[in-house]
Amino acid sequence: MDMMRIGIGYDVHAFVVDRPLIMGGVTIPHTKGLLGHSDADVLTHAIMDALLGAVALGSIGDWFPDTDPQYKNANSTVLLKTVCKAVQKQGFRIGNVDTVIVAQEPVFKPHIQAIRESLAEAMAISVDTIGVKATTTEQLGFEGRSEGIAVHATALVAQYH
Ligand code: MG
Repeated sequence: MDMMRIGIGYDVHAFVVDRPLIMGGVTIPHTKGLLGHSDADVLTHAIMDALLGAVALGSIGDWFPDTDPQYKNANSTVLLKTVCKAVQKQGFRIGNVDTVIVAQEPVFKPHIQAIRESLAEAMAISVDTIGVKATTTEQLGFEGRSEGIAVHATALVAQYH
């Protein structure tokens, strides 16, 4: 069997009123967006950390410091492509990615397919290897109070022959 490695990623961004809501490279129509140094694409950030974790290459904080002006309003999809190249350079291909968006709002269901397609294109992998799910927390916690969005992600990578 090919050598496989698994990684985990987690990220949180706070809601603000004056920014777009970008998830997996897709702009989601909503009354609020997410605060962050980059475009605050919390889903893409969690996936990058899962991928970097799988190949033990640190975290997105190491790769794209939020103190670095070149990453101000950065397009996270571009950063994801950089991470995928690093995974490949380590001798691994992506097996699959799975994610859970934790948010009281908005309703993500109508956007899930577009998000999966956007992520598939960015990572150059098949849509059927990308899981994107959303859950509320029944009004509990910061997500439940609609203060922000959290995302959990896992990634499996396999060594090239
Ligand atoms: Mg982040």
